[in-house]
Amino acid sequence: MATKIDFYAVLEVTRTATADELKKAYRKQAMRYHPDRNPGDETAEHKFKEINEAYDVLKDEQKRAAYDRFGHAAFENGGMGGGGGFGGFGGGGLDDIFEMFGDMMGGRRGGGRRRTGNDIQVQVEITLSEAYAGVKKPVEIRTRVTCESCHGSGSADSNAGDTTCPTCHGAGAVRAQQGFFLVERPCPTCHGSGKVVRNPCKSCRGAGTTEKTRTLDIAIPAGVEDGTRIRLTGEGEAGGSNVQPGDLYVHVSVGGSDIFQRDGANIYCRVPLRMTQAALGTEIEVPVIDGSRAKVKIPAGTQTGENFRLRGKGFSVLRSSARGDMYIQVAVETPHQLSPRQKELLEEFEAEAGETQDQEKANPEHTGFFAKVRDFFEGK
Ligand SMILES: [Zn+2]
Ligand SMILES: [Zn+2]
Repeated sequence: MATKIDFYAVLEVTRTATADELKKAYRKQAMRYHPDRNPGDETAEHKFKEINEAYDVLKDEQKRAAYDRFGHAAFENGGMGGGGGFGGFGGGGLDDIFEMFGDMMGGRRGGGRRRTGNDIQVQVEITLSEAYAGVKKPVEIRTRVTCESCHGSGSADSNAGDTTCPTCHGAGAVRAQQGFFLVERPCPTCHGSGKVVRNPCKSCRGAGTTEKTRTLDIAIPAGVEDGTRIRLTGEGEAGGSNVQPGDLYVHVSVGGSDIFQRDGANIYCRVPLRMTQAALGTEIEVPVIDGSRAKVKIPAGTQTGENFRLRGKGFSVLRSSARGDMYIQVAVETPHQLSPRQKELLEEFEAEAGETQDQEKANPEHTGFFAKVRDFFEGK
């Protein structure tokens, strides 16, 4: 633990970073070092853990304050329960700090023996349509689970019971000299629990947990946004006998779309119109995020940038019955190429406009602008 990197340095933020800045920095770093994006890269995996650990502390005002004051020492006694690396040490010289902070931090310590299994982080990628409708995603997790043979007790004989660990004498931790430092480690015999079973279970050799690949169906709610973190309490690693399992954190990343842009609960779809469609008026068919089609009436004389709202065709809002809208944003496309006949027709059109039309009504912006230009040159 002596070699731990400063949490602020891990997230590449200053010590005065706001909650927003922290969140942004966390997202950026977590994306960069996520195991899914760096398969088999142990350095990235380690970095990813550090990032989550750092953010877990700094996002919480009280934990951050404790960290600012005491550094890593504030969290190294296994009392915090949260965040990947915090489980582990029991009973040690840091108890004093915990006497001060134990209550303030929600009282989750219990003499250094109250621990949880490790938290697990997984990344789930979903499409924009899946984010719209909500989706169940199977996620494979290789993790420690409660041993089926002994139901987590670690004992082959339910009457045999526990006995104090002979290695650490119940402390759960052992100390060793490492260079200049006196380093404290979780006890290798009892893995920090301070107790060993008398007649260990054959399947798990007394640990109370075995390694297993689990597949969990993660229900991702409709309306979820990119970067959302879903916490499934108790779905993390099993901690062994008398220890609560850790939590599972599901990081949801929502893909983009070539057709739709999302802004919160609203959806925007930019639809290019032919010049004649905009001038004459028409009815167009547009795609809706739910996979259906909708008809939109485009009145004659529609301009670039005009919006047509399709009420309630946006995303649902989490934990609410509200729903966003969809906006069709039209853009008039001037033809890039004309056939000789089209050219002829348009020249005729232009001549007609010049001769007989009320220009102030037909092209009010154009007419208005050049009226101002005339005033400008006349010095008005
Ligand atoms: Zn021990
Ligand atoms: Zn067992």
